[in-house]
Amino acid sequence: MYSIDDLDADLALLAQSGARVFTIGYSFLGRPIKCAVKGDLGGGQIFMQAAIHAREWATAPLAVRMLQAYSGSVGVWCVPMSNPDGIMLAQYGLDSVSDAAQRDFLLQVNGGSYDFSMWKANARAVDLNVNFNAKWGTGAQNVTYPAPSDYIGAYPRSEPETKALCDFTERIQPSVTLSYHAKGNVIYRGFECINPYPQLADEISLSTGYPAYSSAGSSGGYKDWYVTTAYKSGLTIEVGDSQWSYPQIQDNLDIVYDANRQVLDICARFVQDNM
Ligand SMILES: [Zn+2]
Repeated sequence: MYSIDDLDADLALLAQSGARVFTIGYSFLGRPIKCAVKGDLGGGQIFMQAAIHAREWATAPLAVRMLQAYSGSVGVWCVPMSNPDGIMLAQYGLDSVSDAAQRDFLLQVNGGSYDFSMWKANARAVDLNVNFNAKWGTGAQNVTYPAPSDYIGAYPRSEPETKALCDFTERIQPSVTLSYHAKGNVIYRGFECINPYPQLADEISLSTGYPAYSSAGSSGGYKDWYVTTAYKSGLTIEVGDSQWSYPQIQDNLDIVYDANRQVLDICARFVQDNM
């Protein structure tokens, strides 16, 4: 299991090898949301975020490995764990929460079960990837009450994790964003009829072997918000065989990494050629 401690150890190694590591904001329970950056910070930039859904924490070591291997000149910013509280909850259950009232709330939301391994939301039971301001609240699976998944929150960008990602994106103004999720080995590109630079998704589709589709029926996701506000290329990449359990994605990280090993280089070339 790839924990926050594992991430911190990997980030320390990245820093030793010349990457810059810093914090873009804090989760609801006060955990730092960390970012590492490599490459040239002038010109077009790439932003990659992963593990915004708690149970999909295996996308964090994937993102770290992709950044470790990257040696291009285009700047790549990487937030491997966008939802640290949710990840701690999915991995360690209520032991990860110190406040008694918060534990009672989470236990109630989880239907009285102490098994949080399938939790997607943050520690306030908001599903962060439906909390962004892009047709917020119109998704087919949205719910309007705290839940392990699909709760849209009180209003768009209500959560500190959502706000941190938006504020940071607005600051660096990336030319491409990659959002790593699990699972299904599939790419979602653009948002509704907005699909800037379709050739990038096509090229990544060819390289990964994952089919690329237009997003349909979703709303309020990071990629949806980015595409509709920036009118640039945002991709959601869902990794892992749909038959695998979530922890099995980490067990098979070599396979997943192998499929995605060219993605940052393809994005960097795209940024150099088009931005
Ligand atoms: Zn997800």
